[in-house]
Amino acid sequence: MTIYNFSAGPAVLPREVLQQAREELLDWHGSGMSVMEMSHRGKEFTSIAAAAEADLRELLAIPSGYKVLFLQGGAHLQFAMIPLNLLRGKPSADYVNTGEWSKKAIGEARKFGAVNVVASNTDRNCTYVPAFDTWQRDKNAAYLHYTPNETIGGVEFNWVPETGAVPLVADMSSNILSRPIDVSKYGLIYAGAQKNIGPAGLTVVIVRDDLLGQVLPGTPTMLDYKVHADNGSMYNTPPTYGIYIAGLVFQWLKRNGGVAQMEQANIAKARLLYDAIDASNGFYNCPVAKPDRSRMNVPFMLKDAALDGDFLKQADARGLLQLKGHRSVGGMRASIYNAMPLAGVQALVGFMNEFARQRG
Ligand SMILES: *Cc1c(COP(=O)(O)O)cnc(C)c1O
Repeated sequence: MTIYNFSAGPAVLPREVLQQAREELLDWHGSGMSVMEMSHRGKEFTSIAAAAEADLRELLAIPSGYKVLFLQGGAHLQFAMIPLNLLRGKPSADYVNTGEWSKKAIGEARKFGAVNVVASNTDRNCTYVPAFDTWQRDKNAAYLHYTPNETIGGVEFNWVPETGAVPLVADMSSNILSRPIDVSKYGLIYAGAQKNIGPAGLTVVIVRDDLLGQVLPGTPTMLDYKVHADNGSMYNTPPTYGIYIAGLVFQWLKRNGGVAQMEQANIAKARLLYDAIDASNGFYNCPVAKPDRSRMNVPFMLKDAALDGDFLKQADARGLLQLKGHRSVGGMRASIYNAMPLAGVQALVGFMNEFARQRG
């Protein structure tokens, strides 16, 4: 039986990548060593890290005035590093609240400075993106932070806020590399690896050069972007195996047409699933406003929550795994990241239709 893993994260990785990692596990390219055993300063690993960075730069067309950092601590540590590094003596930062991850970022930033919540979607249970013309922005804000894809609520921006001189900061943990982006519109982009990049333990940060080197007094060395930038992400031991696997994923993306091709595939997968939900006569329903529905994380409810247990059990028996929704939302959630093949979504939709016929 083919297994399809719909976990929100850590999440499915391309099968080819896992196979290549297995082949290279004990002996990387004739070095006689596993990548796990290599010095991070040796020529073998430095070549792996350099290739990973070059491939990511190519995939996202990252301009030369930006550093790419391979860090640890997950997106959660970025919630603190961003204010520590980017407040730069200014009194406050702007934040958009579109759900659980925005809220966490806001809570952490409040430890370091004033936070101005420019817009929020809590009035409708975090199910839409507030229109840009309603945002109460501060033109003197140190930066504006938003979450382009709310992994839990399944709310995704299909546009980029235009913040002028105020640096735009984005938590792309769950939709980086799922579509082309214009990096030059951002001051900083960050993403925990375990959704769309690779294994947990690696965090990717893309940061504009002029934002480096102005940390709050007392900032620990490890939380200073400039320290990592000046040391090529090797100030201390980086997450070497995570960087290696991420590099294999980047090569897989390049072989498969890059992010433009991924976007087409992701549109097709998401359309198939949302169409099945919308065509189910209310047996399934997705609470998110249609224009703001995520291509990556699809939450849906059964009309009768008493059927949830049975749905999950039968899905499991068919190899459709990890569909249980986040505890704060309930129902189901199918995460359909880059590495989820169309066949996986077809199998899920086939099962959903059958289950609705049986129980509807
Ligand atoms: C998963 C996720 C996080 C948390 O990531 P950690 O690596 O566990 O810190 C933050 N933001 C978004 C959008 C996420 O999807």
